[in-house]
Amino acid sequence: MEPLDALNEVAFRLEHERAPGFKVKAFRRAAGIVETWSAEELAARLADGRLKSTKGIGDRTFEIIAQAAEGRVPDYLADLRARAGEELDPVGAELRALLRGDLHAHSDWSDGTTDIRSMADAAIALGHEYQALTDHSPNLKIAHGLTADRLEQQLGIVAALNEALGGGDASGFRLLSGIEVDILEDGGLDQQPGLLDRLDVVVASVHSKLRSDRSTMTRRMLAAVDDPHTDVLGHVTGRLVEGSRGTRPQSEFDAAAVFAACAANQVAVEINSRPERQDPPDDLIRVALDAGCLFSIDSDAHAPGHLAFLDLGAARAAAAGVPADRIVTTWPLDRLLAWTARNR
Ligand SMILES: [Zn+2]
Ligand SMILES: [Zn+2]
Repeated sequence: MEPLDALNEVAFRLEHERAPGFKVKAFRRAAGIVETWSAEELAARLADGRLKSTKGIGDRTFEIIAQAAEGRVPDYLADLRARAGEELDPVGAELRALLRGDLHAHSDWSDGTTDIRSMADAAIALGHEYQALTDHSPNLKIAHGLTADRLEQQLGIVAALNEALGGGDASGFRLLSGIEVDILEDGGLDQQPGLLDRLDVVVASVHSKLRSDRSTMTRRMLAAVDDPHTDVLGHVTGRLVEGSRGTRPQSEFDAAAVFAACAANQVAVEINSRPERQDPPDDLIRVALDAGCLFSIDSDAHAPGHLAFLDLGAARAAAAGVPADRIVTTWPLDRLLAWTARNR
């Protein structure tokens, strides 16, 4: 096994287990160091003992590199593989196989843990045809939301990355530009309209005043869904059902009215795959189904390993009986982009 692959897989699996960031960091850092060495350089450092004293290589990462270099699966990785969750049930697996990409993920430009390239590489490794990069908007200061200037700068980086990957053709993968834009208290979107017009995908989400009364929240969400820039309504209820941030009840709003507006505007209702969100709840997925909504199964990844949460979203959508054709992330890229361009 290649030491670099072993380190990357360890990091990916720890992220998927939602291990704390500091725990994962050592492995990503070591991978970054090993990546700069040729196979000969690595072998020489192993042979003469320099590897052990290399800054950024600790006991655990050394052990992984050494065991991988011996041509075997490192013990630490074998343990991680062994405790990975059960396989998807057949219905969930069937739907998961139809998913071509993911419209919601963060990089270290906002509150993600890794750079844009690492997210794209992980999406490619998962077999995605496209991955949207949707960092936060300025209002979400705690998550270092992107100002218009920073988003503009990021657009240049996304374009350059796609160019480096072969212009979206040769590699069969494209990183989509995007944003997870805050739905402000008046229902407006927290970014310049001219800039939103230029993005491939706009996910609009509520991140503040989640406990507003029902009519206030309904008005706010309806305004956001009626905004011609909105493509996906993110984690619709804001609930947290488990995890390190504790639990949070779902926000109160007129789901029938909001989902009717989503259907009328062809705004996809997000099935947020994060284990701690599982949003919307099952009963609301049914309301959205009956309303005729489109859906998007998204990871809301904040680290490469989180991209694999799509399995959970696919299982929930399959269990709820959502037809594959109503899920925009089963669509080929050209159909997907024609849909997001409908009002641009
Ligand atoms: Zn969010
Ligand atoms: Zn997000």
